[in-house]
Amino acid sequence: AEPLLRIENLGKKFYVKPGAFGTEVRTVHALEDVTIDVRRGETLSVVGESGCGKSTLGFSILQLLKPSEGSVTFEGTDLTQLSEKQMRRFRQKLQVVFQDPYATLNPRMTIGEVLAEPLLLHGLATKKTVRDKSVEMLGDVGLPTRVLSSYPHQLSGGQRQRVAIARALACDPEFIVCDEAVSALDVSVQAQIVNLLMSLQKKYGLTYLFIAHDLAVVRHMSDRVLVMYLGRPAELAPKKALFHEPLHPYTRALLSAVPEPDPERERNRRRQELVGEIPSPLNPPTGCRFHTRCPLAETVCSQKVPQWREAAPEHWVACHMVPETIQGEPS
Ligand code: SF4
Ligand code: MG
Repeated sequence: AEPLLRIENLGKKFYVKPGAFGTEVRTVHALEDVTIDVRRGETLSVVGESGCGKSTLGFSILQLLKPSEGSVTFEGTDLTQLSEKQMRRFRQKLQVVFQDPYATLNPRMTIGEVLAEPLLLHGLATKKTVRDKSVEMLGDVGLPTRVLSSYPHQLSGGQRQRVAIARALACDPEFIVCDEAVSALDVSVQAQIVNLLMSLQKKYGLTYLFIAHDLAVVRHMSDRVLVMYLGRPAELAPKKALFHEPLHPYTRALLSAVPEPDPERERNRRRQELVGEIPSPLNPPTGCRFHTRCPLAETVCSQKVPQWREAAPEHWVACHMVPETIQGEPS
């Protein structure tokens, strides 16, 4: 089937002006050479340490950041080629929910006004129907009608995040980037919001790019998982294969930090600690960017960028030490 989004060789550079001691403009390669499909109706999670380019990927897909190279094809249109005006009609379909809704909800607007805005803007409701439609949106996210007259500061963190989700839903989206959308919430509230997102996905056929650092949540939520390291994709696989048969040394190191629920697997697994700090994206390592921290690194790793390839069916990886083709995992 046609993917909902086809992302090819997507890259984003930032330019840093010279500071007190520098003389040259320096380039930060925040995102490099990302080639992935996002499938209709899936939850594709993106994980990696902070600074690995997860949010940059999300914003570059949405054109909230203008990519420096590559393409993002949505329903046959390359979004990177559109003017801001042409992009406007796609904005409705491609939404984002942030970590901190407090920062994105206008404190002087009631929740009723917050929800009415996108509904009227996109012509999804009229002045006459907007209240009923807003009440319906609130119902969808498990909030009572009386919240319409509340201000953001009168709500709890979980309730505000529900409002942010309702506001995204009000646009009738197909794709939502959830950028650490549950990361700031208490564990119990986090579980409620995750379950809400999953039920809304089913109800409305939504597709999520779920940016997160909590691997337990990712394990619960995802269909597939993309692991990023310092702006580049390291591994992409269906959840089960990624958690049980990771191919990339960085993925193995990340997973080492997560408790394994199955005691049998816990006993058998080889632990691998992640050592050292993540290098600066201002001056990233040559070749494989992970070579400065990788226990398997050999000479070639600092010389050549490993190719992003499908090593097993559905299982993508960029590592010189992974064999050319490997047996598919038992499913
Ligand atoms: Fe490690 Fe080399 Fe693979 Fe990079 S390419 S992850 S350095 S083994
Ligand atoms: Mg981020």
